[in-house]
Amino acid sequence: MTDLKNRAAIVEKPFKIRLVEKEISCGPDEILVRNIAMGICGSDRNIFAGKMPGKTTEFRHPPVYPFPLGHESGGKVVETGGKTGNFSVGDRVISFGWNNNFADYFVAREWQLQHAPEEFGDIETALGEPAACAIFSAMNSKITLGDTVVVIGCGFAGQVILSCAKKMGAFRVIAVDPSPPKLKIARDMGADVALNPLLEDVRTSVKEITGGKGADVAVEAAGSEDSMNLATDVTARNGKIVLYSWITDPVTLDIGRWHDDGIEIITTCLVHHTWQERHIWARKALRPVAQGQIDINLLAGKTYNLEDIQKAFEETSNDGEFPSIKTIIRP
Ligand SMILES: [Zn+2]
Repeated sequence: MTDLKNRAAIVEKPFKIRLVEKEISCGPDEILVRNIAMGICGSDRNIFAGKMPGKTTEFRHPPVYPFPLGHESGGKVVETGGKTGNFSVGDRVISFGWNNNFADYFVAREWQLQHAPEEFGDIETALGEPAACAIFSAMNSKITLGDTVVVIGCGFAGQVILSCAKKMGAFRVIAVDPSPPKLKIARDMGADVALNPLLEDVRTSVKEITGGKGADVAVEAAGSEDSMNLATDVTARNGKIVLYSWITDPVTLDIGRWHDDGIEIITTCLVHHTWQERHIWARKALRPVAQGQIDINLLAGKTYNLEDIQKAFEETSNDGEFPSIKTIIRP
C-alpha cells in the first residue's frame, strides 16, 4: 500500500479556500482515484459563499467549516483495497459523493463510484454526476411529444434538461434566464425561445406564446423563491412543475393553483435515493451522453489548475457578463 502526496481543498471559512497537503492512502474497502478533472457545483459555490446547507440526507450531521470541498469529479483508479471487487487499477470512474474531490486524488467506497461509459472523454467523465442528475430529472419530468416546456434557470442542469426536453419530443422549449450569454447557449442546446426576465415580463410572454394556456411542464432549475413562484404562474391548468433545485432556505410560495388547477408536482433528485437505485438509473441517464445526443462539452466553461482554486471560485461567483456554465478544475 503506497502513501501518495495529495493536495485537497478545504473551505476554511466563507470565501477562503486553502489547499492542504497530506498523504493519502487506500483502506481495505476503499478505492484510490487520481482525478482527471473536477466541476464546480452550485452547492460548492454556496458553501464557499457561507451558505452552508443544514442536516440533510446527504449530510447526516450538519456540515461545518472547515469543510472538505468537492463532489463532482472523474478519474482513473490507481489502487484498490482488496475488498473492492468491482473496480480495477486503470478503470475510469465517475464519483458520486462528497469525498473532498477538489484534490489530486480522492478515496471512495465502491458504492460511491460508477464506471464511466467507454465513449466518455475527460469532460464527460468529470461531469458524469451532474449530467446524470440533470438527465434523470428530464427522464422523470413526464415531458412528452407536443409539450410546451419552460425551463427556468440556464445553469448546467437547466441547459441539460432543456436539451433533453427537445430530444424527448417537446413541441417548444422556452428558456428563462437573466444572463444573455446563458440564453445564447440555451439556444445552442436546443431552446426554441429565450426569455430574459430583466427585459420582459416572463408571465405575459409565456401566456402570449401559448395562446393564454401556459406551459405543459415548467422546470424549476434556478433555486430561488421567485423562480418557484414563476414556475407556478407559467404552468397550464393540469400541467406539471418539475423541481430540480436544492433550495436550503425557507421560501414563501403561492400554491393555491397547485390545488385549484390540479397541477402535478414532481421532485427529481437522482442522488437522494438509495445508491443501488442511483447505480442503475445513472447508467441509463448517461447513455444519451455516450451516444452523443446530449452534448455537455458545450457547457464546460473556464478551466483552472487546482492551485488556483481560490481564484476559480472568486471568478465563477462574480462572472456576470461572461458566465461559466460549468467551471472545470484540473489537478
Ligand atoms: Zn453537485
